[in-house]
Amino acid sequence: MTTNYLDIEYPVMEHFYTLQGEGHFTGQAAYFIRLAGCDVGCVWCDVKESWDANIHPKLKVSDLLKAASAHPCKIVVITGGEPTLHQLDALTTAFQEAGFRTHLETAATNPISGKWDWITLSPKKFKAPLHENLSLAHELKVIIFHKSDFEWAEKHAKYVSPSCLLYLQPEWGKIDAITPLVIDYIKDFPQWQLSLQTHKYIHIP
Ligand code: SF4
Repeated sequence: MTTNYLDIEYPVMEHFYTLQGEGHFTGQAAYFIRLAGCDVGCVWCDVKESWDANIHPKLKVSDLLKAASAHPCKIVVITGGEPTLHQLDALTTAFQEAGFRTHLETAATNPISGKWDWITLSPKKFKAPLHENLSLAHELKVIIFHKSDFEWAEKHAKYVSPSCLLYLQPEWGKIDAITPLVIDYIKDFPQWQLSLQTHKYIHIP
């Protein structure tokens, strides 16, 4: 990689310091960078304003690193949008060199670039993940919106690594109706764990 990778720019919808709300790192402080652009188009998406990369500013890696480094945490979460639309080597190299753990949240619809300490792969029915990405996941997190999504979850769980954590997460808009189904499913198939969007319960980003 050339030495000017700190000058490489990415379209960013927002970046902020908060607690990770979902999955294995729930409750841990993390700096979130929400890249703009999405090729998936989930009907229940709660960040539809991220879809069009052209309406968001392009920020340099150096500016993002400076913003994150103003805080004491050492986890950066790259989310979207769909981050795999972008070539992420510059971003992850800069953050790892600065001592951050790099975490990716992705539907994995494109080849995964960059160096990652943790990959959360959330397969979406609206555009399936690339098969070769499944073995790279540290956690598989499937959003349950309809009871048919359990089958979708099992279909992908077959191809992740043996150490990959398996999460089912009720879709927020149907939380009351879906959560009992998810609880019953996990009681029947305890290789799965419950993931809740805890940040929405405590009203943080
Ligand atoms: Fe929204 Fe993520 Fe689905 Fe894209 S992949 S539509 S950003 S929930």
